[in-house]
Amino acid sequence: MFPKVSEHRRRKTGQMADKSAIEWTEATWNPVTGCDKVSPGCAHCYAETFAERFIGVPGHPYEQGFALKLWPHRLEHPLRWKRPRMIFVNSMSDLFHERIPDDYIAQIFEVMGAAGQHTFQILTKRLQRYEPDRIQRGTSWDDAPDTQPGRVGREPMVSR
Ligand code: SF4
Repeated sequence: MFPKVSEHRRRKTGQMADKSAIEWTEATWNPVTGCDKVSPGCAHCYAETFAERFIGVPGHPYEQGFALKLWPHRLEHPLRWKRPRMIFVNSMSDLFHERIPDDYIAQIFEVMGAAGQHTFQILTKRLQRYEPDRIQRGTSWDDAPDTQPGRVGREPMVSR
């Protein structure tokens, strides 16, 4: 069962985290960080608030704030984790952000496919770009008509 999603705001870090403070996951994996608001539900985006604390901090992963950024060197991180775990993908972004290239998203899905020991969790407000696969599925919904809750595949969609 996918978790309730108010916890979206509790995301703690944009880096790979073998442990997570989020109670409904065990690890976070952020091959992308940063995002842009896409619906009213983004108004209190925790990830943005967190990232913007570090604007201008030299060398910090959020030196650029919440601007979208790809981190290709993080792509293979889940493959290094041998023990099965729940992994929240892009806890500090939206995997289906319109400026993330298709081939980059494909690489992320390839890693998820290759790391069969894990279960991957994805939340998105951009369901129109979503591609079903072997993942727990959820959307982050709010009052916007195109982000209303519903069901995708076999898993209930969830709010955040
Ligand atoms: S889609 Fe998610 S990560 Fe992106 S701005 Fe909205 S709440 Fe934040």
